[in-house]
Amino acid sequence: MQPVDPTQPYDPDNIFARILRDEIPSTRVYEDEWAIAFHDIAPVAPVHVLVIPRGAYVSWDDFSDRAPAEEVAGFVRAVGNVARQLGLVEQGYRLINNIGPDGGQIVPHLHVHLLGGRVMGPMLTPQ
Ligand code: 5GP
Repeated sequence: MQPVDPTQPYDPDNIFARILRDEIPSTRVYEDEWAIAFHDIAPVAPVHVLVIPRGAYVSWDDFSDRAPAEEVAGFVRAVGNVARQLGLVEQGYRLINNIGPDGGQIVPHLHVHLLGGRVMGPMLTPQ
């Protein structure tokens, strides 16, 4: 798949928009007024969940620029709620958000990767 161009307008037919509309199946683990969370199709940790806002935002850049404060708060709280609900707080976990080509973003709907269930190791492999 092509990396996301974060300057492009939101594509309402991107894969996560279709998951939000239940046009494509996913294994939801959480939902509230602001966000849903579901298992990543290609997990890289024992727990690998994607948390996405219900609103149409391409990326963290788009979200932090345009989203109303209530929506920002709702989404941030949802990420924390998912981690607590999955029992990850005591052992800890990692959040990752990829933005644009250098960030490695593939899907053009804002998503936070929530990773847990093992020691994550170094943040990045040194180059
Ligand atoms: P990105 O690289 O954009 O930050 O991450 C996109 C993530 O979406 C990847 O980890 C990929 O495995 C996941 N993904 C892509 N398509 C699907 C899908 O159809 N269903 C689910 N559950 N995850 C997907």
